[in-house]
Amino acid sequence: MNLFFHMNHESILSIDNFKSEAARLEIRLTNDQAKQLSTYAQILIEYNKHTNLVGNAAPECLLFDHILDSLALLPILNGLQAKKSALPASLIDIGSGAGFPGLVLAIAKGDLKVTAVDATNKKVVFLQSVVEALDLSKHVRIINARAEDIANSKAFRSSFDYATCRALGALPVVCELTLPFLKPGGCALLQRGSKQIEAEKSMAQKAVAQLGATLVESILLDRQVLAKDHYVLIFKQDKQAPPKYPRQWKDIKAKPIF
Ligand code: SAH
Repeated sequence: MNLFFHMNHESILSIDNFKSEAARLEIRLTNDQAKQLSTYAQILIEYNKHTNLVGNAAPECLLFDHILDSLALLPILNGLQAKKSALPASLIDIGSGAGFPGLVLAIAKGDLKVTAVDATNKKVVFLQSVVEALDLSKHVRIINARAEDIANSKAFRSSFDYATCRALGALPVVCELTLPFLKPGGCALLQRGSKQIEAEKSMAQKAVAQLGATLVESILLDRQVLAKDHYVLIFKQDKQAPPKYPRQWKDIKAKPIF
């Protein structure tokens, strides 16, 4: 990655660089998709100057830590989708923040219907402006809400083929907030750091049964490209989550399911 210290901002976020870095993750971006990702990164850099959306908006940080890290879910998503017939698939991204991974996946997979949910108004205003700038409104909708407040409404509950939730908190919190949105047969793709992965996995394996789900796979993402060890835990929803989940935020936090 040191090479990037010799590159200027424009070349880090160039269309060619997006394409070649994505190719290292075995993802083939079209020129249009690479251009949209590049524009998205540039909008975020400018916006972050007046509104704090990401801690570090340096181009190499956006490219590697956020955009490629989000894109890394794409081959997994495509692999899961290949086993199903119905298209287009729907995905809900809980706590999308500045759009990771939801908006990145929407750009890279045009046949995916993405719902990005965030509790914080300024994040939602930003996300909406990106949707407009990149003309994504046909397959992306942005919702300003807390996940636990909308999870019981008919329009959302047990409604999605896929769910993502990145960097929102501890795994039991993330599972409780995310899994009730999945249809039976749907999958959550939850990105985790490597530090407590073994402990998290063994606890989650037993505990997610109460949400109607099973931990089916743990995938180590490509450390050559992403620099850090990142896992994706894949949970499959076997049946609808019981109506009592998700609980109120204070209970989710104070009495985690595992
Ligand atoms: N997923 C993004 C943002 C992570 S920060 C990324 O990986 O960069 C966590 C985000 O979750 C914040 O934007 C916060 O507003 C949102 N959030 C926290 N609790 C939430 C909840 N209960 N429902 C919806 N959004 C929530």
